[in-house]
Amino acid sequence: MTNIHSHNEQKAPIPTLEQVSSNVYAYVQLDGSWGLNNTGFIVGENGITVIDTCFTEKRTKAFIKAITKVSKLPIRTLVNTHQHGDHTNGNYQLPHATIIGHELCRKEMLDINVPTVNPNPMYSGVEWGNLILSPPFVTFEKELTLYSDYTKIELHYMGPAHTTNDVIVWIPEQCILFSGDLLFNGGTPFVMMGSVEGSLRALRELKNFPSRTIVPGHGSICDSRIIEDMEKYLQFIQKTAKSGFSKGLSPLETALSTDLGEFSEWHDKERIVGNLHRAYSELRGEALGSKIDIKSAVSDMLTYNGGNTVRCIA
Ligand SMILES: [Zn+2]
Repeated sequence: MTNIHSHNEQKAPIPTLEQVSSNVYAYVQLDGSWGLNNTGFIVGENGITVIDTCFTEKRTKAFIKAITKVSKLPIRTLVNTHQHGDHTNGNYQLPHATIIGHELCRKEMLDINVPTVNPNPMYSGVEWGNLILSPPFVTFEKELTLYSDYTKIELHYMGPAHTTNDVIVWIPEQCILFSGDLLFNGGTPFVMMGSVEGSLRALRELKNFPSRTIVPGHGSICDSRIIEDMEKYLQFIQKTAKSGFSKGLSPLETALSTDLGEFSEWHDKERIVGNLHRAYSELRGEALGSKIDIKSAVSDMLTYNGGNTVRCIA
């Protein structure tokens, strides 16, 4: 029996394939809310390099179909920008690809939360399909360079930020950046499983890349102006956490008594609670990206959301 909350009944728009350059494509799944991520691919003479897969079996299938329409060449390489299920659940559907990710991406996927299957306390009404755990099996720590024929593709580790294992994909000759979930366009940033301070560092670093086109982890394709929006929100989280922490309020109490102001337009507002849990850990002086009690952070997030699972139309 599936328990579909009314807030999940809205339908997601049909994903779009956007050609970013002669050989680079982005697959955009709006509205970019929970589970609706962006992926992409680079077409070479001999094969295709893919960036991330999707949340459900069906969604990855549709993504692969979109790739095949552009090129029938084999998919030889898959890069995961980080561990989360919306970026990795479909890995197993590319059985001939070398899967590359950060060392901690592999570790986290094997340790904890992937594939995201029912029952998952955060979601209801998602048709997962038959997901099979398929983590990266070529890993790196800091940087790795790939080539699609002569197109250079740089992977840079930027964590801990959105998670402990964020990797960006930078195509220098074309100044195209796939940022993974360091950037959300139109959605609330989410750093519960990473770091607030680390994210701010990563955003500062992102500004050093002369990006012409940015494919964010979620939301429409954009440019580097979005980086400042993310910074503003995370600074607001740090300020809010500091004030709540000093008053002895819990992260949930702090969230409930906070006016989101200019950030209330973004979807997935409840992420403030997870973000505050992470900010509190940093105020206690714990190492950036260290383990926190995710279960209680998630449960507080759902309380903030009126006791409902998150709005997920994936
Ligand atoms: Zn993510």
